[in-house]
Amino acid sequence: MKKIIVIPGDGVGPEVTDSAVKVLKKIDEKFKIGLEFETRYAGGAAYDKFGEPLPAETLDACKKADAILFGAVGGKKWDNLEVKFRPEQALFGLRKGLGLFANLRPVKVYDALIDGSPLKPELVRGGDLLIVRELVGGIYFGDRCESEIYNGVERAWDMENYSVPEVERITKLAFDTAKLRRGKVTSVDKANVLSTSRLWRKVVGEVAKNYPEVELNHLYVDNCAMQLVLNPKQFDVIVTSNMFGDILSDEASVIGGSIGLMPSASMGELTSFYEPIHGSAPDIAGKNIVNPMGTILSAAMLLRYSLQAEDAAKAIESAIDKTLDDGYRTADIFSEGFKKVGTKEVTEIICDRL
Ligand code: NAD
Repeated sequence: MKKIIVIPGDGVGPEVTDSAVKVLKKIDEKFKIGLEFETRYAGGAAYDKFGEPLPAETLDACKKADAILFGAVGGKKWDNLEVKFRPEQALFGLRKGLGLFANLRPVKVYDALIDGSPLKPELVRGGDLLIVRELVGGIYFGDRCESEIYNGVERAWDMENYSVPEVERITKLAFDTAKLRRGKVTSVDKANVLSTSRLWRKVVGEVAKNYPEVELNHLYVDNCAMQLVLNPKQFDVIVTSNMFGDILSDEASVIGGSIGLMPSASMGELTSFYEPIHGSAPDIAGKNIVNPMGTILSAAMLLRYSLQAEDAAKAIESAIDKTLDDGYRTADIFSEGFKKVGTKEVTEIICDRL
């Protein structure tokens, strides 16, 4: 059996994870993967029940799981708590506790939703890229100084460092992922200025020698930011450092036009973690209007990357394509002339198309 820990969290989290589990159960009937689900608490819901956002019991269960499916955490109710009790601490604790070293964010442009993109349709039609971001190193985790006096003036600093094994690990993941896709990796750095980027570029080049079937090119981050809006279709897999990935993945996320459809994966050595990129959307929670597709597509990533069930992953992705092509829309992507459906209805419609 393959054990999946489901963490619904707060706000719309329970609704979207419920939809994704329904889809996974239907997939399991068809593909006989042997999925087993267990639900655990995290975020505000865990604080209310256990007095802490990430109970040890949740983290332990996740460590033993084949994969984790996560909804979202957070909400006004918990905004004024002391930092260590705030819902987002659950996410930091899970990332750290599970050693999630890479974040994968696919950006796919759906033909049916192309008008939602802020870019011209001819620029984005057919766009399908994946950003692989290093998640536990670099400047976000380096030494820092909030304030010191230097040469008579106050200053602050943050240090970036990357080791060879850290860059090797993320690069291998990017190349392995590219082999499942169109076989192209773009490594993004600032090697004209930064020493860490020069090491990054050297290591990426070394790792690439083991993947002769994958094409590699290098871009400076400023150029990459520009190319993402000028010609996003040139990209297949982008691999980059923590800070550059943070910025580029948010830039890229708007290309597709809808936050509700964006999945993500965070990969660890022991297990991996799958969640939509949106938050807990408290403004629409409990109303049966949230778009569950981002979480359902995260479940497809779970099948692909954690369970090596590529056919099952593709079946989910094409069921979503068909649902959109057949004109069904949740409120966030609805426009005149289409069929408006709620969260539960769209989940049924997707299940029917599996
Ligand atoms: P959000 O992503 O929750 O919502 C932004 C807007 O997009 C809202 O109007 C919401 O209704 C809409 N929206 C988001 N997902 C949608 C979907 N699937 N279908 C339809 N509409 C959707 O971001 P926010 O409002 O900035 O944050 C709300 C809460 O979520 C905060 O407490 C924040 O800390 C938390 N948050 C959690 C995560 C996470 O758990 N990974 C990520 C981001 C924000």
